[in-house]
Amino acid sequence: RFLDVPQAPPDAILGISEAFKADTSPDKMNLGVGAYRTEEGKPLVLGAVREAERREYLNMGGIPEFCKLAAALAFGKGSAALQEGRNATIQCLSGTGSLRVGGEFLSSFYPGPKLVLIPTPSWANHKAIFKRCGMQTQEYRYYKPETRGLDYEGMLEDIRAAPDGAVLLLHACAHNPTGVDPTPEQWQGILEVTQSKKLLPFFDSAYQGFASGDLDRDGASLRMFADTGMEMLLAQSFAKNMGLYGERVGALSVVVGDAAAAKKVESQLKITARQMYSNPPRHGASIATRILGDPALMDQWKQELKGMADRIHTMRQGLYDALQEVGAPGDWTHILKQIGMFSFTGLTRPQVENMTNKWHVYMTFDGRISMAGLSSGKCKYLAEAIKDSVEN
Ligand code: PMP
Repeated sequence: RFLDVPQAPPDAILGISEAFKADTSPDKMNLGVGAYRTEEGKPLVLGAVREAERREYLNMGGIPEFCKLAAALAFGKGSAALQEGRNATIQCLSGTGSLRVGGEFLSSFYPGPKLVLIPTPSWANHKAIFKRCGMQTQEYRYYKPETRGLDYEGMLEDIRAAPDGAVLLLHACAHNPTGVDPTPEQWQGILEVTQSKKLLPFFDSAYQGFASGDLDRDGASLRMFADTGMEMLLAQSFAKNMGLYGERVGALSVVVGDAAAAKKVESQLKITARQMYSNPPRHGASIATRILGDPALMDQWKQELKGMADRIHTMRQGLYDALQEVGAPGDWTHILKQIGMFSFTGLTRPQVENMTNKWHVYMTFDGRISMAGLSSGKCKYLAEAIKDSVEN
């Protein structure tokens, strides 16, 4: 589908620098690039920056390396797409920025329907981001309130009814806000519909490692799709799994049919970034690069990730047990079954208002709670608040 994307023209300013370099005249003067130069015509490394760099041991050359390592983390080291160079991966401003650049790329170059299929519910920004890019959006059923689980049949029905070739947005794992993920068998079913309808999957991976505590397991859904050799997009965020929320570390990958197309796509992604924010910040990505590229730090990170995932799991059990103990009416097994940072409690808006107004428990009006915000000592209090809210 992207074999015919045109190569973007070279940057006009960088072209001038090339010509300047090639010029042998002693009188030559480069006034083309807007970069500070010293009296000697040399670039100036500011002392404060050099000192800050020395203190933080930054590896400033690590950015292309970051893209490579981030892609390998998601697709797996043995991924055929990566080995064949069929991916264009660029560092973006966390998950949001990756989705946005991906949306802009689709809006300009996708030859299929400019329509993104989005689950109901989904992270609220999804629809807004794609609309802002000039894409249309359409919802597909995802969450079933009656079971507090996946509406698998409804999901497939809606996807089958959508136009062939549409873009299908999927949460790679730990679906936000529901905490409901498809099983591996259900992923297989989603893949089959994707293939038969020639849909273009766009994976949003904001929680790799956070769901199960295992990076490979949390990447299984998108790897299942990538391993068929299909074209796809992936927006990756390191905000949650590395706790680098404010650093805006993320990557967008576009996997296409061959390496030559990937090069052309990459040129267009870079132009898109240039027009939106020129280039991404360095600091967070250099931290991520150092972790991803260092076996000892990688081991430490994996342990810490597992620690976070395990604690969240313990909180699920703790809250479930406390709900039993206080005798909250109804079935609360969904709290145990749901995955990742969030749980969709099933509380209605008036019940949520009671939680906040009477019990000082703050949560979103859709009934979502962040399990990561809970601690062992507070499970009982939360269970009592929930019991009171559902009973009154
Ligand atoms: N996608 C999903 C599903 C999310 O939950 C979030 C964060 N809440 C994002 C993307 C964006 O994350 P980031 O902070 O990395 O931009």
